[in-house]
Amino acid sequence: MVKDLIRDLMPVLFIGHGSPMNAIEDNEFTDSWKTIAKIITEKFSKPKLILCISAHWLKDNTAVLSTKNPQTIHDFYGFPEELYKVQYPALGSLEYAKIIKDTIKSVDVKLDDTWGIDHGMWSVLVKMYPKADIPVIQLSINPNLSLETHIKIGKELSALRSRGVLIIGSGNIVHNLGMMRTSGVAFPWAIDFDDYIQKSLEDNNVENLLNYKKHPSSRYAVPTNDHYIPLLYVVGASIGESNASLDGKPKFFCTKIFYSSLSMTCVAYGLQ
Ligand code: ZN
Repeated sequence: MVKDLIRDLMPVLFIGHGSPMNAIEDNEFTDSWKTIAKIITEKFSKPKLILCISAHWLKDNTAVLSTKNPQTIHDFYGFPEELYKVQYPALGSLEYAKIIKDTIKSVDVKLDDTWGIDHGMWSVLVKMYPKADIPVIQLSINPNLSLETHIKIGKELSALRSRGVLIIGSGNIVHNLGMMRTSGVAFPWAIDFDDYIQKSLEDNNVENLLNYKKHPSSRYAVPTNDHYIPLLYVVGASIGESNASLDGKPKFFCTKIFYSSLSMTCVAYGLQ
């Protein structure tokens, strides 16, 4: 009976989004995003809604995007003009925004019409779902909340998976922009930390994920945790509210370190 239930659940994804340039390039990362979207459509169905927790929407409360026509936000500087022309014209959904607000119980959630779709999401979605024909909603990250609370919100959101909602956390497990270098191999600490988190995910070791700062490489790998936190929502949505772990082992579908200090690791739950 539990197995029947699992088959009906939409997978949950963590995408290492990396540079916004991925939106206008074709490379191994964007290929993996296209492939995962294809697999989801074939094995499950086209999502009814995409709910994104992006590293780039930080707010001092938990807010859910409620606009009907969300703007494409170009929240970066110094990139080629071509990138600023990219639009992702997906619709929003006030109806789903209200459902998401009511689904989250552990914190007060505000409906918000001041944001849009930021590059943490659209730079990935232009590759995954280029037709932009699935409504998109973003949920903000309140960095003042404890890491446990981020996981708890993810657990509450898991209920949406049976309603055709594709939950995507978009960040990077290793994210150190200050130490990026365009030539040279990955820093050993970047590989070390990314491997450690992958292993912790495989072992379903939530304690390790919560206490990532105990790992000696974390000070370089996660100098600020805005790109790490989306992973916690994904893990929560995989565990579910009953703590029964809704999915089997995670599937890693892109594990390269980019520019020496950014891990592009992507994780899917619920694909088996
Ligand atoms: Zn980013």
